[in-house]
Amino acid sequence: MRVLVVEDEQQLAATIAEGLQAEGFDVDVVHDGLDGLWRARENSYAAIVLDILLPGMNGYKVCRTLRADDVWTPILMLTAKDGEEDEAEALDTGADDFLSKPFSFLVLVARLRALLRRGATPRPAVLEVGSLTLDPATRACARHDEPISLTAREFALLELLMRRSDAVVSKRDLIDEVWGPDFAGDPNIVEVYVGYLRKKIDTPFDLQTIQTVRGAGYRLLPDA
Ligand code: CA
Repeated sequence: MRVLVVEDEQQLAATIAEGLQAEGFDVDVVHDGLDGLWRARENSYAAIVLDILLPGMNGYKVCRTLRADDVWTPILMLTAKDGEEDEAEALDTGADDFLSKPFSFLVLVARLRALLRRGATPRPAVLEVGSLTLDPATRACARHDEPISLTAREFALLELLMRRSDAVVSKRDLIDEVWGPDFAGDPNIVEVYVGYLRKKIDTPFDLQTIQTVRGAGYRLLPDA
């Protein structure tokens, strides 16, 4: 079992690596967030131990980027503070578990083994575009933290627009992804549903974030 350790404190990284090797793991160590991201994408690790404060790219960003790229390797995040905020943020970015520094090596191994038993579980990170948030795991949507109730179809449509925010998403792509490639009905169904979405995510907030790009499709813009 190969484990990636991303930790810039050289002494701590070496200690973790030696300990894990003694437990029978193969260990790769990098000291930089960008290296960590690159390694995690290029190799198939059983788990990743990821520090938060790192040169190059911080651990939150590394985690979020991996999840956005559909890399679901279990991630144990090392938080520097005990603050609840840190922990909540670690989990929000798609980490599977966290451990506050300083930690005992036995606890690290126990947590890591628990993650390995569970394996890679797709748990998409919360999507954010401006004040709009969408959590594919809990299926919750909110604007300025105010909950918005969506039907399954509206949710799927908004999720795709949010995943590709800033880009124009064609009507064809929306139909393929939301209604399925076999959909044989009236393609104007997309306009109807975009209208429903606007009434829920824009109109009550006096916003116009879903742009119609004539002849091309739709684009979701951040409101701030
Ligand atoms: Ca660090």
